[in-house]
Amino acid sequence: MYRNFRTLVLLVDQLIISSLIEPLEPSLKEIFSFQTINHLIAEQLPRSCWVEARSQYNAQCLLKFAASRSRLNLIVLLVFHDLFVPYMNFVFGIASDGLGAVVSVARLENNPDFVQKEVIHELGHVFGLSHCILPCVMTFSNSVWEAKQKNSKFCPKCLQKLQKLMKG
Ligand SMILES: [Zn+2]
Ligand SMILES: [Zn+2]
Repeated sequence: MYRNFRTLVLLVDQLIISSLIEPLEPSLKEIFSFQTINHLIAEQLPRSCWVEARSQYNAQCLLKFAASRSRLNLIVLLVFHDLFVPYMNFVFGIASDGLGAVVSVARLENNPDFVQKEVIHELGHVFGLSHCILPCVMTFSNSVWEAKQKNSKFCPKCLQKLQKLMKG
């Protein structure tokens, strides 16, 4: 079941400094035509998602937690610590089509533009976009270097697809 695409819940780990995510709301509103962005602070992330031996959160576990915090609207959970999924050393974030995403700022060098780029990428997946090979924000990145090289905007092809998907 798809959620309301007009409202985004931005759930932010209390460990993240607010200046890092301040530019995020206006640009997400513009790109994805959100009418409302509800900004909430996550005081505590579930301990059960934390893997002490890796000093990382299990991203899929946090995605489930995020989804449970918002049953009707899309949700993006921004996490201070590093994330992993099974069989990968780390991920910048993960997304679930029509539901929401989890993004970590741990490797994003305290750079608001970098954070914005990763959130836009994951929201692209939430709206149903796949990875792209053109200079495009939907390019897959496996390292900080690759993520930095990635374009911060959608290519014309992805943008057209996105606009179609947003109409539903
Ligand atoms: Zn991706
Ligand atoms: Zn593209």
